Amino acid sequence: MCYNLYKMVYLDYAATTPLLPEVIKAMHEAELKYFANASALHTPGHLSHNLIEGCREILAEMVGADPSEIIFTSGATESNNTVIRTFEGHEIETSPLEHHSIIEAARVYKGAKKPKLYSYMLANNEIGDFLDLPDKKDGFLHSDLTQILGKIPVNVKKLGLDYATFSAHKIGGPVGVGALYVREGVPFKPLLIGGLQEKKRRGGTYNTVGISGFRRALESVKNKGNFKKYDKEVRNLRDTLAQRILKEIPGSSLNTNIEKGKSLPNILNASFKAAEGESIQLYLDAEGIIVSTGSACAAGDIRPSHVLMAKTGDAEVAHSSIRFSFGLENTMEDVDKVMEVLPGIVDRLQKVSTIGL
Ligand code: PMP
Repeated sequence: MCYNLYKMVYLDYAATTPLLPEVIKAMHEAELKYFANASALHTPGHLSHNLIEGCREILAEMVGADPSEIIFTSGATESNNTVIRTFEGHEIETSPLEHHSIIEAARVYKGAKKPKLYSYMLANNEIGDFLDLPDKKDGFLHSDLTQILGKIPVNVKKLGLDYATFSAHKIGGPVGVGALYVREGVPFKPLLIGGLQEKKRRGGTYNTVGISGFRRALESVKNKGNFKKYDKEVRNLRDTLAQRILKEIPGSSLNTNIEKGKSLPNILNASFKAAEGESIQLYLDAEGIIVSTGSACAAGDIRPSHVLMAKTGDAEVAHSSIRFSFGLENTMEDVDKVMEVLPGIVDRLQKVSTIGL
């Protein structure tokens, strides 16, 4: 794989995934064959249009929606902003674990009018834990399914969702492509206006090449039996790492509930008492092991993660946390490599810390 040229152990799949080889191929092909504007009435335009509609159908089928209820966007951030802004001036309730693209947008747009919007993600990106969806009563319900897509089967109708967010780059597709499910008949206000695309719901020339990559990535989820692989193989890697960390590293604790049915199978968030998360990350990086502290979007932000604060209420635990997130390319050898160096790194940091174990 091209991303493995440097023999790194990549454990940051929740931040973004390497492009799948078949996605790279599909996007190259699309660049050559499907360059025409998908809204144009000529033949090459129709070919681009058909490619896009194919992706819409595959995504709709995968999540239990009608294709007409899927709108392509530039990613999960845009999808989230679109839903929240639709409810400008209305009551907006979010879970405390939401991504910043929900929390910040809600802070800007929320008011006091009814009906109310509830926005609750089904699985959190920093710790992987599943959340309970609220009873939407007389309001509307949105869920950011960015981390769920491709990992576990999901059905927007069975979940009673009115809106749902997806992103291509968490499943081996390209960055800059996402989608929004908008249930037929619910309120909707386009964020990007000035074009007829997406039935006037999202203006802007279609990103045909990007959508072709999204389409191929979705096909891979379907054809390669990803759901089973995440549930068995990836879960086994995650759980093994969790058990070894607890056993082999003094002062370690888990922020992810790894009990079956309580979290995504590919995310493990752990804290190491008296060792700073960013220092651990940098030492691991120097060993070719790529992890993150909480959410990559918040990297460089020295405030403790709002997610870990909401879950643990302890700034020290939050500051000493590392997120390991697995993908289908990882192996048990990767877990062994982490455990060859992590105990020593944590021990060194704990020895120079002023906080006792
Ligand atoms: N929501 C969640 C839960 C995420 O994990 C991410 C990516 N970190 C986003 C939204 C933003 O996604 P995008 O990069 O597609 O805008």
